[in-house]
Amino acid sequence: MGSTDLFNLPQSMRALGLSLFPMGQHQKYHANRKVIITEYSEARKFSIVEKALPQLREQDVLIKVKASGVCGTDLHIHDGEFGAKFPLVPGHETVGVVAAFGSGVQGFKVDDRVVADNSELCGHCHYCRRGKELFCENFIAHGVMVDGGFAEYAAYPAHRVFIFKDLSDVDATLLEPAACAAHGLDKIAPQMGSKVLLFGAGPTGLMLAQLLRENGGCYTVIAAPGGLKMDLAKSLNAADEYVELPRESVASAATLEKLKAENPYGFDIVVEATGSSKILEDAIHFVTKSGKLVVYGVYGDNDRIRISPNMIFKEEINVLGSFSQTYKFPAAIDYLERKRVKVDGIVNKTFRLEEWQACLDAMKNRTVIKAAIVFD
Ligand SMILES: [Zn+2]
Ligand SMILES: [Zn+2]
Repeated sequence: MGSTDLFNLPQSMRALGLSLFPMGQHQKYHANRKVIITEYSEARKFSIVEKALPQLREQDVLIKVKASGVCGTDLHIHDGEFGAKFPLVPGHETVGVVAAFGSGVQGFKVDDRVVADNSELCGHCHYCRRGKELFCENFIAHGVMVDGGFAEYAAYPAHRVFIFKDLSDVDATLLEPAACAAHGLDKIAPQMGSKVLLFGAGPTGLMLAQLLRENGGCYTVIAAPGGLKMDLAKSLNAADEYVELPRESVASAATLEKLKAENPYGFDIVVEATGSSKILEDAIHFVTKSGKLVVYGVYGDNDRIRISPNMIFKEEINVLGSFSQTYKFPAAIDYLERKRVKVDGIVNKTFRLEEWQACLDAMKNRTVIKAAIVFD
């Protein structure tokens, strides 16, 4: 880095001076360089453009992005749903290395491998003051409301950035969904010896199934259609038993009847992780008396279910919702690094930023289980 480059650094970063950027060590980072990003001007309108580096606040870490996970939410954001605010750089599962940090940041070195929690919480609203930050009224989500990780560089507040070591960049993109699964585990609070039935074999469902097995679940059944995801569930050894649900409704009903006959007392924990309201209606019939029904999918805003209130009343069924997470990244890192939750093969296709349209198509056509955008 030459002295002219240093002169061009924003004020907060100039304060860091040469200690952060010793000569010869940071050619990869120039304050006045342009970065390539995927930017949406509005719903469904995106382009791959060059822009200035994101501005760093005093408490921010600048991440040179190595991999950015893609999930179903990004399809909703593409369509302008899920509270998306444009113009926007999407990407809420951001992994990379520290390129720089603001003058108020402690505990990071340049080149630390890091993952970012995409949420910023206000700390002073009704819910934050009561320790329910998940419902922060001033919640800001990177990659949804402000710029995220489909970019060569992305800035996040340091207290939402976490160091990891023993994961590949691509596998580390699963830390965000794993953190959501860890939150699900907290909500479920399983008792030891629990029998678990999980509908669906998507990435977060498979991580939750493994967490349940590690934490009180003694017998876990995954029920899902046969195919890529079910094969993956088996290769990850995510359950004790796998029930392939035929896609055709009569055959599927017969399979469920058989499962019910084999488990007449039902399951202590039944997780609906497909996002199908029809399956949610079926799922409650598998919950044992005083058991837990976990609503864990993403459903349409207009979806409705018909279930018997008397069943919830008389059988004392606990219906739990689990959405997103707060403070679960450290747990997610520990479980994934120690292979207590296995993720090999969940991300089964990677794309370059320039291939965003192809990535969208692959997601829509369901030819990938989970994709990630990768960078040099
Ligand atoms: Zn996501
Ligand atoms: Zn708040």
